[in-house]
Amino acid sequence: MEQNKDLNQFDIPLAKRTYTNNRNSILLKKLLITAPFLLIIFSMTALRLIRNIEVGPLSNLKFQVEKNQDNRILGHLPYNEIPQEKLVLIEPNVEVHIDMRDSLLNMREEAKRDGVYLVFLSGYRSINLQNDIFYSLKSIRNQEASERARVSAPPGYSEHSTGFAIDIGDATKRETDFETEFENTDAFRWLIKNAAKFHFKLSFARDNKYIDYEPWHWRYEGSIEALKVFESSNRKL
Ligand SMILES: [Zn+2]
Repeated sequence: MEQNKDLNQFDIPLAKRTYTNNRNSILLKKLLITAPFLLIIFSMTALRLIRNIEVGPLSNLKFQVEKNQDNRILGHLPYNEIPQEKLVLIEPNVEVHIDMRDSLLNMREEAKRDGVYLVFLSGYRSINLQNDIFYSLKSIRNQEASERARVSAPPGYSEHSTGFAIDIGDATKRETDFETEFENTDAFRWLIKNAAKFHFKLSFARDNKYIDYEPWHWRYEGSIEALKVFESSNRKL
């Protein structure tokens, strides 16, 4: 009887424990089923937070850079004005960057030996002068800025302000100065064949989307400084 009583006493808690264990295992099963979903939801939320914090602003920045690549205005790139101490006079009215002087003069000499006479029309132009050229001609010709920019750079955006640009004419065909017809002169034909030897490059070729063809306008890329100045320009849009 006492043994039975003991057994009964033992049975009751055992039964209770079994009940508790069943309840626990149901909870455990529920947890096992829902855990992967909870994990997925947690991961997605965490990822979204990280994207907003890190990738969000970065992608915005990238978008802004792509949108305003190189800071071009009407197809022209911004250029700093050359420090005055780097300017040298090569003709009464023509100043250029000291780095390109020898190459430019040597080019003219070699052309002369080939019977071709190059004339230097315009070298360095200050941002102030470019300002006068751009705005005065714009108002005289009643053109909008985008039209004007096809034939002249806005102030602060001209290769001429770097001292590394030179407008060249044919001394025997002065009527073609700053005209597209310059491309039909001996001087232009000679330049196309030989200018690269002296590190000069045509800046505004026919395929330029925004700026008109300028066969007379050449730029120097024969020094590290010059290459740096025109690095953006040499990158395709
Ligand atoms: Zn020019």
